[in-house]
Amino acid sequence: MAGRPFIVAIDGPAGAGKSTAARRVASRLGFAMVDTGAIYRTVALAATRRGIAFEDDAALGALLPELEIHFAPSPGGGQRVLLGADDVSVEIRTPPMSIGASDVSARPVVRAGLLGLQRRLACAPENRGAVLEGRDIGTVVFPDADVKFFLTASAEERARRRHAELAAKGDASTYDEVLADQLRRDKNDSERAIAPLRPAEDARVVDTSGVPLEAVVDALVRAVEERLQAEGRGGA
Ligand code: C5P
Repeated sequence: MAGRPFIVAIDGPAGAGKSTAARRVASRLGFAMVDTGAIYRTVALAATRRGIAFEDDAALGALLPELEIHFAPSPGGGQRVLLGADDVSVEIRTPPMSIGASDVSARPVVRAGLLGLQRRLACAPENRGAVLEGRDIGTVVFPDADVKFFLTASAEERARRRHAELAAKGDASTYDEVLADQLRRDKNDSERAIAPLRPAEDARVVDTSGVPLEAVVDALVRAVEERLQAEGRGGA
């Protein structure tokens, strides 16, 4: 894709630290950030609001073109997720929407229907570069991404992190519930027929178990900067 922004793909299982790392990497590089999980979550929320079952391909297929999903800067930093004019940032992060996102994301009609949106958001003309975070960015959405990372960590560490995040938001889920949800999502995501979770052949696999976030971010930024230099696109 000649002339497109510089694309950084960050894939990996739930709780590997992708969101926070992706946000910080994007902010350090001055790149746009596309949280593709938030898009699947918003589809699950919209389906729930309309009473559409997560397996109802015909209804999901009819719903997708009606959805206007946007990201907007949040006053406190980070991004808000908008469904039309409605700020759904908090509602999409609840445990039922995590499972719902995993369920709708296994439907080929949903994956195909969201490809264009993900690519458009990344390739907006004002973007010098974009960091996309998800499960299939390096394999399907941007197989020609300039740099690909696959972040991972042990299941227990990932559940600990997610549990702490949810608790900080006042969610009462226990660690065991979070671990069970996460294992179910990992299994769904890895075993689905279409775009299963797996590292791209040319992805750098980064195990974040026990590694402080800042060290992960530094390593990712360094790798991207090397690639920018190599492509002659260095220097902001
Ligand atoms: O990343 P996050 O946990 O917000 O993603 C929610 C769910 O959306 C994942 O468990 C996965 O099933 C799905 N997803 C996906 N492909 C992506 C991003 C998310 O299938 N690129």
